[in-house]
Amino acid sequence: MTVNLAILPGDGIGPEIVAEAIKVLNVLKADFAFDVAYRYGVIGGAAYDAEGSPYPDSTRALVHDCDAVLLGAVGGPKWEPLDKPSRPEAGLLAIRADLGLFANYRPTKVHPQLRDASTLKPEVIDGVDIMVVRELVSGIYFGQPRGVEELPDGQKRGFNTLEYTTSEIERIARKAFEAARLRRGQVCSIDKANVLESTEYWRTVVTELHAKEYADVSLSHMYVDNAAMQLIRNPKQFDVMVTTNLFGDILSDEASMLTGSIGMLPSASIGENFAMYEPIHGSAPDIAGENKANPLATILSVAMMLRYTLNREDLANRVEAAVEQVLDGGLRTADLSADLATAVSCSDMGEAVCQALREGK
Ligand code: NAD
Repeated sequence: MTVNLAILPGDGIGPEIVAEAIKVLNVLKADFAFDVAYRYGVIGGAAYDAEGSPYPDSTRALVHDCDAVLLGAVGGPKWEPLDKPSRPEAGLLAIRADLGLFANYRPTKVHPQLRDASTLKPEVIDGVDIMVVRELVSGIYFGQPRGVEELPDGQKRGFNTLEYTTSEIERIARKAFEAARLRRGQVCSIDKANVLESTEYWRTVVTELHAKEYADVSLSHMYVDNAAMQLIRNPKQFDVMVTTNLFGDILSDEASMLTGSIGMLPSASIGENFAMYEPIHGSAPDIAGENKANPLATILSVAMMLRYTLNREDLANRVEAAVEQVLDGGLRTADLSADLATAVSCSDMGEAVCQALREGK
């Protein structure tokens, strides 16, 4: 059966990096009998320019009719003066909400060839391979009531609500346990159960679900302050970390910086019926159109798509192995290179991954 992908290149370097990911998919199609078809749509600033909205109806219809979405990046100085709902970033929030993408997966893998890019000592980061699974559509970012109110004594009070329901906790915990089954089989759930009732309840629900359905996976719990510390002290202890929206926002950025190279990091946002894959970096307007961007985060996002939505672990492994092979061979785009004179272009890097894939057949 044909896999139908919605391709949303977006702005800035988006079209360049997505073009390289499509080349990789085309090798899978030609040489590995992977039956895939693409339909292109607009998002972000490009969508505003073409259709007057950063997430227009044409894109909404397209993504609802596909098996998965591959997105480049959105944003750029051109659209900064627009009012907030018209800005490119509003398109990103709109598509996530529209597709109900409640689980955000951010893997952080230290590639041994790039260990010098990290600010941490090699012995601390060698072998790090962590997946942060962050709850994306609930918690304190969405809880009601919220706001800023006047108090009788003339002061003001700012407030937000941290809440999680049983089903919201269960569905994200399920995703984490299932991800762990495809990895090293360990989940660490991060909370602040000693202080916050909502996350005390989080711990209870995760523990009960584990006992009922996922006893084959090992489960531990950690307070968020300790987790922040352990990520720097001994990151190798973690396999899958599952946590709330707020804690995940902070810890996933902390974890990604263990590698020191933003151009290498993929992500997935997954809901009950839809999934979207994108690099974690932005549209890099400073290098857009120069064929200098690193396409590997986008290519590795394709590997995540193959693994988590399309059930093609075999092809995901091949794509990841091809990336490793290219790095082993010493190829570096400018963001990874100490010597800019030897840095390769975005398209050369994409082509090298394709070549490695073909050779690995
Ligand atoms: P950015 O991630 O675009 O760039 C930060 C720095 O990293 C820049 O120097 C850039 O050149 C470099 N960089 C990023 N990706 C790279 C790659 N693949 N290869 C080589 N170098 C790379 O972040 P920013 O500059 O803060 O934001 C630029 C625009 O992107 C803004 O409009 C912002 O709102 C938007 N943004 C979008 C997303 C998204 O689409 N998911 C995420 C973050 C930022």
